[in-house]
Amino acid sequence: MNYPSKILEKAVDAISSLPGIGKKTALRMALHLIYDKNDKASILSSSLSELRNGVKFCSICHSISDENVCAICSTSSRNKRLLCIVENVRDMMAIEDTGSFVGLYHILGGLISPLEGVSPSDLNIDSLLSRLEKNEVEEIIMAISPTIDGDTTTFYISKKISHLNLKMTSIARGVSFGGELEYADEFTLGRSISARLPYKLGQ
Ligand SMILES: [Zn+2]
Repeated sequence: MNYPSKILEKAVDAISSLPGIGKKTALRMALHLIYDKNDKASILSSSLSELRNGVKFCSICHSISDENVCAICSTSSRNKRLLCIVENVRDMMAIEDTGSFVGLYHILGGLISPLEGVSPSDLNIDSLLSRLEKNEVEEIIMAISPTIDGDTTTFYISKKISHLNLKMTSIARGVSFGGELEYADEFTLGRSISARLPYKLGQ
């Protein structure tokens, strides 16, 4: 594409580097920002800078937060005996949107993947184990996609906590996850959390 301005081209390149945005959409957005009367560009720019520099990670569950401890971890209305383990913040948000879960979360920040060189030490597993050692949690719910990496991660965690007197369950499988928790509709995901099953080795 021939651009009438280097600055425009640079903006299009930057916008289209985001996931799911092609050059055409990026160009439409960039042109919109140039001609916009409300100066959305300035609002966007300060919001992006805040996003990058102001966002914190909860010191307990590793969720994204505006404080050192997130709203879910700091409220007294959640059931602290239930801990839901998820791969990422998007999965947590999907479960939270179902309104079916009243416990707390722990965000792993990925899955163990020997093929991609992701080992347990790259994930928030040590902090999970120290949380569980405190004996406040009675049940952990593995809300992890049923993929090879998901199964590896669940198996690894199950081994690590075998000495603790903990109930471990997995959200019901066979429902239409499409392998991606975050794309499950709220009803299906909510139902699968309610209908969770005991985790068995080799499942
Ligand atoms: Zn938290």
